[in-house]
Amino acid sequence: MAVSDHVDLPTFIAGVRKRNPGQDEFVQAVQEVAEDIYDFIADKEQYHHYQILRRIAEPDRIVSFRVCWEDDQHNIRVNRGWRVQNNNAIGPYKGGIRFHPSVTESVLKFLAFEQTFKNALTGLPMGGGKGGANFNPKGKSDHEVMRFCQSFMTELYRHVGADVDVPAGDIGVGAREIGYMFGQYKRITNQFTGVLTGKGLEYGGSLIRTEATGYGAVYFLANMLKTKGEDLTGKSAVISGSGNVATHAAEKIVQLGGKVLTLSDSQGFIHDPDGITQDKINWVKAHKTKRRGRIADYAAEFKGATFVEGKTPWGVPCDVALPCATQNELLGDDARMLVKNGCQAVAEGANMPTNLEGVHVFKDAKILFAPGKAANAGGVAVSGLEMSQNSERRSWKEAELQQLLLDIMEGIHSSCVAYGDQGGGYIDYVKGANIAGFKKVADAML
Ligand code: GLU
Repeated sequence: MAVSDHVDLPTFIAGVRKRNPGQDEFVQAVQEVAEDIYDFIADKEQYHHYQILRRIAEPDRIVSFRVCWEDDQHNIRVNRGWRVQNNNAIGPYKGGIRFHPSVTESVLKFLAFEQTFKNALTGLPMGGGKGGANFNPKGKSDHEVMRFCQSFMTELYRHVGADVDVPAGDIGVGAREIGYMFGQYKRITNQFTGVLTGKGLEYGGSLIRTEATGYGAVYFLANMLKTKGEDLTGKSAVISGSGNVATHAAEKIVQLGGKVLTLSDSQGFIHDPDGITQDKINWVKAHKTKRRGRIADYAAEFKGATFVEGKTPWGVPCDVALPCATQNELLGDDARMLVKNGCQAVAEGANMPTNLEGVHVFKDAKILFAPGKAANAGGVAVSGLEMSQNSERRSWKEAELQQLLLDIMEGIHSSCVAYGDQGGGYIDYVKGANIAGFKKVADAML
């Protein structure tokens, strides 16, 4: 069927911007995908040109709700919560919940959009969604966090379910928060289901779920280096973030013979020229989760390390870089500095940490660059395996899960190569991931 209202790329992006006023993160994520797939879909009559992209870029549904909770001083506090259900063409909506003051509808829409492609790339039957609240868990007591999570789930429970929408963790939501939310869901519905992933091992969680995002990102990086006949042995790594993704990425780099130089949080980064060893990583994990401390304290704990306040770590010369903190943390100038200092490969552990200008810098320099929707898909992949285990009422063995994670990351790498190979030894992983992810979802929708 001929399509009369086909528009060019700039007009399409202008339309997205107009329909989503003030939602910069969302427009950015759509633009990044559209730039890569526009030629592909224009060539393919069956995708009805841009119309199918337009449909994927319009969330199926957004639920927005008030979350009231009582603080320790007995004040009633109010936050806003959301669940964005982007697309369920290939399976139940699936994606994390983020608790952070920076959470807005735009941020969750971009994350749900990205998640749709990421989940498709895993090869598992999961649609895309994302949720969260503009609640800041920092400085809150366990009891306050518990009351917030319970109140959040009191609203959310009617919109989710093991075959409907399966949330998980993200920034600010770890095992503690998932536990509180799962308990509340069970209390309200009187059902023990796999409604959330990232659960504790005692009540239906999966082995290696905690490690999966960081480990998976490093497996992806290793696959990229392998295309150049290289591996991680002796390579220096700059990592941002110090949460679950960053610490497990660091751990895997160390296990594979690399040297980790940095970690960071929103206040700055630590630089340890001697390398952040496994013992030091263990200290960071305990410091961040049990003591809920800052990364700055690392410099007081370990001789030779320095804390650089208010800066990101991209100026530290390295062989490989893993942005594992948050969106738009690696900008155009940072990308230029990494390239200038000889960085060979970048794998995104966070979602959209590199802004559009940075992505263009990496593409122009033709260095190995893996977008989050490919490189950090290991976490949601093991979430998918947790769903399978919950449906079977079984727990799979660690070795089996480790192998599946390795296979899934290798499979995503192959999909990126299949659609991103530009010839002359250059693989555009962004393009590869976008086309492979899009094709699966679009085919299912059609
Ligand atoms: N929040 C993670 C992500 O961005 C995991 C989502 C999940 O396990 O559902 O992919």
